[in-house]
Amino acid sequence: MLIASESARTARRPTLPPTAPPTRHAWTKQEIQDIYDSPLLDLVFRAASVHRQYHDPSKIQLCTLMNIKTGGCSEDCSYCSQSSRYATPTKASRLVDIEPVLEAARKAKANGSTRFCMGAAWRDLSGRKRGFERILTMVREIRGMGMEVCTTLGMLSPEQARQLKEAGLTAYNHNLDTSREYYPEVGWVAAFPPM
Ligand code: SF4
Repeated sequence: MLIASESARTARRPTLPPTAPPTRHAWTKQEIQDIYDSPLLDLVFRAASVHRQYHDPSKIQLCTLMNIKTGGCSEDCSYCSQSSRYATPTKASRLVDIEPVLEAARKAKANGSTRFCMGAAWRDLSGRKRGFERILTMVREIRGMGMEVCTTLGMLSPEQARQLKEAGLTAYNHNLDTSREYYPEVGWVAAFPPM
């Protein structure tokens, strides 16, 4: 019974093309509008079709996210519970030391994660030279464990981005929560990166 279900699962797997086409960046506003106006289930179907073209649909990647600096942010993003505009019971913390982060990454790997992500609650890294050095060490060490590493640390300078890349960072997360025009309604406009 188990063998039959396994072979059925194997038979459903697509033949994967050797490489995916290059990521497309030059979208027109009308094309984006058309996607935005599409019925949700059409979008789900199209996304699943592309996913099955290039990936085994029976596989997922486990990623562990660790908060390395909680609360106390001086910014006032209205959608964020860590902003200065809200009185939340969460106690603000300083940047976590290196070893507890490495220990958490080892544990994540042992539990099956192949990616480790670290997030800090602040606007940017200016004035945080030593903290940034610490984060670079975390990235290097976790990458050395054979895991992918990503971070979300607010705004970066080009030099900081380069240093993170050199340390082995796999990806950087920066949320665009709404359009540039509407951003002043929900947070500080400087957070919207130049396009
Ligand atoms: S900058 Fe980031 S952490 Fe700070 S309030 Fe805005 S979203 Fe929250």
